[in-house]
Amino acid sequence: MITDCHIHISPLAMFKPAALELMRVKRHNFAQIEQYCRSPKSFLEYLDASEIDRAALINYVAPEVIGFTTEVNQFVADYVKHDPKRLISCGSLHPRHSSNILSDVEQLVRLGIRMIKIHPPHQLLFPNDYLRGVTELEIIYRAAEANGIPVMFHTGTSIFPGARNKYGDPMYLDDVAVDFPKMKILLAHGGRPLWMDTAFFLIRRHPNVYLDVSGIPPKSLLRYFPRLEEIASKTLFGTDWPGPGVPDVGQNLKDFRSLPLPQPVKDQILSQTALEIWPA
Ligand SMILES: [Zn+2]
Repeated sequence: MITDCHIHISPLAMFKPAALELMRVKRHNFAQIEQYCRSPKSFLEYLDASEIDRAALINYVAPEVIGFTTEVNQFVADYVKHDPKRLISCGSLHPRHSSNILSDVEQLVRLGIRMIKIHPPHQLLFPNDYLRGVTELEIIYRAAEANGIPVMFHTGTSIFPGARNKYGDPMYLDDVAVDFPKMKILLAHGGRPLWMDTAFFLIRRHPNVYLDVSGIPPKSLLRYFPRLEEIASKTLFGTDWPGPGVPDVGQNLKDFRSLPLPQPVKDQILSQTALEIWPA
């Protein structure tokens, strides 16, 4: 059972023109991506062809930079209904774009969202801003803890127009891991390309912090994380497709499989860690 913990299937109609333009320029197969975002059936066929059993479908609220509003939650909840065993919903909330955070959190839980994404460089916030009066963030984290919903944080840089990269430093998650010890924290992209050492430290320090290797070209993975084996039990395979620089899910999987790692380590990263987080 292979899980890709990081694929972007989102309502493309919500994209701001500049963000959409970046996608169009970088992707020669943009029509195919549009088709998958409309049709779970054709997307599942793509997963089959790529030898992927399950995928977490990443959505987040980022009205300023990308254009996404809280409507993404209903979108992804509806989308995964097509095959809830294979499609794992990831939704989101934004502290500054919620008029009633408690009812928004309840709605998210009611929709059965199975992961929450926080994207600091696109949401323009620090993950530990609850320490500076942003109580909405604390409410989101408490709900995640109480309901066993893991929270994925984008860590590392972003080249989307308007993204602010100071927010991409994973070190701000040290506070979050201490203050919310029961919340599973996934470090998307392992702080690439500036903060891999910080990410590695946090994963080793905190029992509740995990690595999502998506966005890192598999051929470069061991250069970025030479001691990956030591954290395999807390590492998840993911691609970040169709993000800029990730041409194909199947190719990504092939490249990962050809890495010089023991087979049990590969199995752990491709299957086991994700099964522990989202049992089949
Ligand atoms: Zn992503």
